[in-house]
Order: sequence, then C-alpha cells, then structure tokens
Amino acid sequence: MSENIVAKFGGTSVATANAAGMVKKIIDSDDENRRYIVVSAPGKLDEKEYLNEKYREKVTDLLIELGKKPDDETIKDRIIQRYQSLSPGTDVTELSDLLNQRRAMPKDNPKRYADGIKAFGEEACARLLAKVWGLAYIDPKELFVVSEEYGNARILPQSEEMVRKRLAGIDGKIIIPGFYGYTEKGSIATLSRGGSDLTGAYVAAAVGAKTYENFTDVDGICAANPNLVNNPKTIRFLTFEELRDLTYSGFNVFHDEAVQPVQEKQIPVHVRNTFSFPKTGTFICYERRSNPQKPIVGIAYKNGFCAFDIAAFGLNSMRGIERKILQTFEEEGVSVECSIGGIDDVSVIFAEDQILSEDDPEGCFKINMLNNRLKGLLANKNPKINFNENYGILVVAGKGIKESEYIQTKVSTTLSDAGVKIKFISQGPSERCIIYGINSADSSKAVNAIYDKFLK
Ligand code: ASP
Repeated sequence: MSENIVAKFGGTSVATANAAGMVKKIIDSDDENRRYIVVSAPGKLDEKEYLNEKYREKVTDLLIELGKKPDDETIKDRIIQRYQSLSPGTDVTELSDLLNQRRAMPKDNPKRYADGIKAFGEEACARLLAKVWGLAYIDPKELFVVSEEYGNARILPQSEEMVRKRLAGIDGKIIIPGFYGYTEKGSIATLSRGGSDLTGAYVAAAVGAKTYENFTDVDGICAANPNLVNNPKTIRFLTFEELRDLTYSGFNVFHDEAVQPVQEKQIPVHVRNTFSFPKTGTFICYERRSNPQKPIVGIAYKNGFCAFDIAAFGLNSMRGIERKILQTFEEEGVSVECSIGGIDDVSVIFAEDQILSEDDPEGCFKINMLNNRLKGLLANKNPKINFNENYGILVVAGKGIKESEYIQTKVSTTLSDAGVKIKFISQGPSERCIIYGINSADSSKAVNAIYDKFLK
C-alpha cells in the first residue's frame, strides 16, 4: 500500500470557474500525497444554486444530444462555451478542433460514434485543467482497455498492470479523465453513467492508494433520503457491506460498481464535499466497530415494486413448485427481487418496470400471461392468484443488527405504531439488514418513524 491518494471530482466540482478554483485549492492544499486527480465532465448546478441558465445542463447530456445531431452547431457552441467559462481567457481552439474531429468520425456504428462524442466531456475537462494548472495529463488510452460494450463498457483486468506501470514513472500530480477507455481494437468506449467513480476506484486499486477520495457536492452519505427526511444526518463511518445494502435501494452518491475494486483491495473511500473542504464526509471502510446503542446505520427506500401472491391448499408439499414458479418468471423475462413463502402460499416480488413496454405501457399483456401460466402450474389445486402493485422496499441496514437483541421486533413495532402496514419482512442469513415490503403510500411515514427512533 502506498501513501498516495486518488481524488475524483464529480461534475458539479468542475461546473464553473468558481468550482474549479475550489478544486485547485484542494489539490494545492495540505496533502502532498493527493497526486492522482480524476475528473468528470462539467455537470449542472441546480436552479436554486445558480441563476445563470447555461450551468443547468450537464455537458455529457449535451454531448449525447450532439451525438444524435452531429451537425447542430448550436449544441456544439454551447458545449465549447462551458469549457471557455471554466477557464475564461484560455484559448479553447484546440478543444473545439478535437470536438470537430470526433464529429467527423465514421458513423457506421452509431453506438461507437455516440461514445466517441460522449467521452469528449471528460477528456476536454482533464486536458483544459491540466493545461491551466500546469499538471501532467494522462490519456485513458495508456491506462484502460475496456470491453466493446459501448455505453456500458467494463474495464478489463489487464488495465491494472497498465495503470500501475504508467503511473509508477511519474513524479508530481497528474490529471486523468474519468468515464471511458479504449477497446482492444482502439475505439473509445464509455462506462455506464456516473462512470468516473469507477475510473477513480480502478486507479486507486491499481496503485494501492491510501485513500480514494470521492469529491461531490454533498457532505457525505446521508442516513436517509433527504427527499423523505428533513435534513438527515451524514453517516460518518460505513462498511462496504452496509453501503451495498443501502445502494440497493436508492442511495446513489457513489456508483455501486465502483465499490468492488476498492473493497477487494481494502482501500477506504472518503465521500466528501468540494464546497466544504476541509470538512470530512463519510468514510467507507472494510470494517468498523459497531456502537451497540446504534445498531442501524441507515435506511434506504425504493419505489416501483409489485408482486404476485400465489396460494393453493397443499402448495407446500408440491415437489419443485417454487422452482417452477420462479422459472415461469425467468421465462417471461422478469427477474425476481425476492420470494417470500408461507405454508401454502408464496409471494413473488419484482420491479414493476420489467412488465412494461412501449406496446404494453400498463403491463396488461405481461400480467395476464404470468397469471395464466401460474394458474396452469397449479391447475388441479384451485389456486388463488393475485397481482398487487405499488409496493416499496425499505432496507434497514447496519452491522450492529446481527448482535442487537429483538431489533426486528423493535423496528416492526415502530412501523406499525406509525400506521405502516407491513406486507412482508425478509432477512438474509448474514443478518446484515432487514428488508420490509410496504405500500408506497406509506414510504415517508415509514422512513421518518425509523429515522426518529433509531438514528436521530
Ligand atoms: N459525465 C458522465 C456522466 O454524466 C460520467 C460521470 O460524471 O461520472 O454520467
């Protein structure tokens, strides 16, 4: 493990000249070891924060638009102006030329073409900041070989050695653009949206960084969704496993795929706010001591689930029936979130959007198909099959849950005292978290009741 720190700056941190000035201060500040800087494309500031309209668009979104209409000069100008305003007075002709080169690329593969344009956002940002700050720019071509899955590429294992070797020979600080790499055939391919987090995590893992700092515009990871709870606390320490349980339903400060490389190498992640530096944020670590008084670390909630409840006398003793039921969902292209069994009944829960399509926006066709097939499986058992919608899933997470006595009863009582009807409860054998199925109408009531009782 080295002393080096990898710092990744998200879109809002490089959205304006002011913001970039803060980034520069952070790079120049106390810690000499903050050497590897990964940047996103300039992002957007929301209306409340910034009155100037031009900052309300994400450059990546503009580039996606440009990919669809490459001859549109207005979009191109809007993009280049964002770079100009990031560093007023700097000549951005080179960036403009680079974007023109990308627009002139062959269009035979539309996804490849779109990625070439999209990646400009991060590349131009890193090139520009490297130039004005006098830092070295390292191109992803020298670091990341990625799969040929345009828009959703994966960084391939040989990249680790490439990153290590390339960065070993450099003194001083460097800037790397996030979000993309090159395929074995030499084309640009972007990672999934928010993928600069992943770039940063791979660099941190490859160089064995002391810390991976993920700079954003919030003070860290909140113990509950701020859209549901008024001013929730920021979590100070969180394990990778706890983060996984929380990102499952709605926590999206840090890209979930970015967890794996740093978790594997046990590199702590520090999610912190560019705009309140040097204040610390949330540390995500491999292990932490749990506080017996606070077994729960956070609550997540996700909407948009539905369920088939299947009941038939003697269901429990039908050999292989659960497998056949789940196989029916698989064959219909529906991936199941979880299934909860009683004695003669079972509930199969899945994300609603999987049964909707352009031709079937209400899901009628899929629901009927599943209903008929499930009835067919239990034809001689006189089954009762009900489709239920508007479910939400609540995840109560914390490593202390395992050791805490009667915690499930306490949480369930808190929910029912608040008038929340619990549809189902589930807890895996590792007892890391408790999962509740509730009506989506009860989401705010449920999250606030648990927050007030266990986290406030
Ligand atoms: N700029 C890219 C996006 O908007 C990648 C990133 O910001 O991490 O998804």
